[in-house]
Amino acid sequence: NYVDLVPILKQVVNVQQINAGKHTFDIITSSENLVVFGDEDKLIQLFNNLIHNAVKYSPDGGNVQIKVLAEHDKVYIAIKDEGIGIPEEAINKLFTKFYRVDNSDMRKIGGTGLGLSIVKEIVKSHQGEIKVDSEWKKGSTFTISLPLMTTHSVEQLDQEKEEGKRSIIIIEDD
Ligand code: ATP
Ligand code: MG
Repeated sequence: NYVDLVPILKQVVNVQQINAGKHTFDIITSSENLVVFGDEDKLIQLFNNLIHNAVKYSPDGGNVQIKVLAEHDKVYIAIKDEGIGIPEEAINKLFTKFYRVDNSDMRKIGGTGLGLSIVKEIVKSHQGEIKVDSEWKKGSTFTISLPLMTTHSVEQLDQEKEEGKRSIIIIEDD
């Protein structure tokens, strides 16, 4: 299905804002109309896990910035927090199931270590990529890139479906 990213990001932020209380959130976007092809529930789960981490691993009153940027045929979604950061040597283990950074800042914060392994699966199943930038004690940025459906590619796909050119039939769930 076609998934419009900005509305789902707004929806995830609204829910997290209610739960987070003191954090502030900004969504910065170059366009309100950025469409990807994928599973809406999974993409909501992906953003939810990342934004929840941004809240959980940063102090009350911290800002969470979500920047959405379209470039060529990709859309980049960067989720940036002002939190505890991730030690350099932990970065490549983050996406492993049950892995949690072990240090005194972390021990007070609960979790199972599954959120990011699910994120990785969802990104992979959408032909996307994920990148982590982090500075210990300063904050972290998780950047997802996903193939963008341009107005042109959406129209083209619709037209090809209509003309019966596509052998792949896309089943809409509703
Ligand atoms: P779960 O998401 O399953 O409730 P979790 O948050 O511990 O538990 P992940 O979301 O997979 O698990 O994250 C793995 C580890 O990566 C975390 O335990 C934490 O050490 C580190 N981490 C993830 N996101 C951040 C972040 N934004 N800032 C600092 N550390 C982070
Ligand atoms: Mg988590």
